[in-house]
Amino acid sequence: MNRDFAALQHPTFDLLICGGGIYGAWTAYDAALRGLKVAIVEQNDWASATSSASTKLIHGGLRYLETYDFKLVSKSLQERTRLLRIAPHRVWPLRFGVPVFVRQRFNRLQLKLGLSLYDYLAHDTDPSMRHRYFNPGQFSAHFPAIKQNQLKGGFTYADAQTDDARLVLELIAGAQMAGAYCINYCQLAKILETEGKAGGAIVRDQLTGNELTIHARQIVFTTGQWLAREPPSRDWCRLAKGVHLVMPAVLDADALLLTAPADDRVFFMIPWYGMTLLGTTDTDFDIDTGQVAVEASDIDYLLAAANYYLEAPWTRSDIIGSFAGVRVFKQSLQSATSGSPSALSRDWELKTAANDVHYAIGGKITSSRQDAARIVDTICEKLGSAAKCTTQEKLLPWAPPGNFATWFSQVTAQAAQLGIDAISAHWLLRRHGMKAPEILRQIETNAQLAQRIVPEVPLILADLLHCATNEMVVHLDDLLRRRLPLLILAKLSDEQLYEIARLVADPLHWDSARVAQEISRCSVFRNQE
Ligand SMILES: Cc1cc2nc3c(=O)[nH]c(=O)nc-3n(C[C@H](O)[C@H](O)[C@H](O)COP(=O)(O)OP(=O)(O)OC[C@H]3O[C@@H](n4cnc5c(N)ncnc54)[C@H](O)[C@@H]3O)c2cc1C
Repeated sequence: MNRDFAALQHPTFDLLICGGGIYGAWTAYDAALRGLKVAIVEQNDWASATSSASTKLIHGGLRYLETYDFKLVSKSLQERTRLLRIAPHRVWPLRFGVPVFVRQRFNRLQLKLGLSLYDYLAHDTDPSMRHRYFNPGQFSAHFPAIKQNQLKGGFTYADAQTDDARLVLELIAGAQMAGAYCINYCQLAKILETEGKAGGAIVRDQLTGNELTIHARQIVFTTGQWLAREPPSRDWCRLAKGVHLVMPAVLDADALLLTAPADDRVFFMIPWYGMTLLGTTDTDFDIDTGQVAVEASDIDYLLAAANYYLEAPWTRSDIIGSFAGVRVFKQSLQSATSGSPSALSRDWELKTAANDVHYAIGGKITSSRQDAARIVDTICEKLGSAAKCTTQEKLLPWAPPGNFATWFSQVTAQAAQLGIDAISAHWLLRRHGMKAPEILRQIETNAQLAQRIVPEVPLILADLLHCATNEMVVHLDDLLRRRLPLLILAKLSDEQLYEIARLVADPLHWDSARVAQEISRCSVFRNQE
């Protein structure tokens, strides 16, 4: 993947996309596959905002049944099934346990009805995706970390999980392969209009300060929370902040859906890269005054919620990492008057302003493919193109063709022969799909690269070097927060961070002054408590 700012001087683009989160990435990929001349600019790194700070679920959203949002749940469940099919390396099934205690908001019958409806809306023919009941003994054997006292049993149900930042990156890689111009660290600074209609933009290279004029027949903003900064889109959104903590492993393969005793909100404990994601909070956010940061009150809330259920409670010193993101809700009569962000619809909308610029508002990672298809349909209509969406059935760019299980076991065997431990090999295949054999080839010439970067996280040195060399990395935090989520999965010591930066300094052409600068940029992601 190459970054070439000067290439944006291309004559005229059919479509300029502003914002390289999941919405921008799917839009660029879809539009490029339809043969449009596409440019996508991202002011920071790909997925540097909300699209790397989600709960990483590809899910219908069981809890939206409570607000009777059946249309959204059904749409998201269909997308879940589709993504499991077209991206088996990137999106994998994950089961969730829901305990039933003597006194709780939902009794066993209510949960049974909700889960049956969820299965029905999914229309999934795979029996392993249906819910199951467990008696108290079975449930506690399955989830030994949670308290047994007053447990009456529980259910498990299926959803799916991903690595959000890598999903975005793979789509950007796919868009680039299909001919799109994809530039990170490039800000759209100004829209250019002729007779009140947008026809291009000034974009700024964030690395050099150079500016260019881009001519584009259509422009779409997929800028997430930045929509709330300026008119006209600021009137169309409401924002909420959500925080996650990364905690030590307490779960085996399955996650837990629980309700927080403080306010009866749903929260999750989810296994991810061998650690536990604990989240999320959901609090109103004001973009003019708020900071997208993890605050002491967020930590208190999440630890109290988790410790209500855990046999061995967590303390602050157990926190390995943390991250915060901002959700955009489309503003409606309901959202303007509703007290809690948790009660708001996660649905999505495309609005077009008087100058013909389009704005994507709200949504979810899960449904973003389908929403992006609607964006590109609108663009094609404006351009007079009859090109149809092909992303429904097309395998993702790095998905291995053929039988996925067979491919997975063959490449896992090769990885074992090269000395990669089983858990790291598992994650390597999920992270890189069809590209994994390229990484294995590096180990054939240097066996050291089969080792983990740090012992507690299942990520190996060959992966680090592959990402640094091939995945449009500009800064160290691009590499260590999004290409590999190491900064949130481990409490790296200064020496470890220096050692890692030194290892990638060569492929990234960094001298020692640059290495020092890059290390200091990482401090915002590090939990040193
Ligand atoms: C806490 C939390 C948990 C969530 N969990 C889930 C989940 O488990 N499953 C799910 O399906 N959904 C989940 N969501 C929702 C999902 O994460 C979001 O809907 C999605 O990431 C939004 O993507 P986006 O592309 O619209 O915005 P973003 O990812 O925020 O991307 C917008 C991008 O635009 C760029 N930008 C802004 N202005 C400019 C400019 N002028 N020039 C160039 N670039 C610009 C920004 O830098 C940014 O990278 C969650 C959301 C939150 C907050």
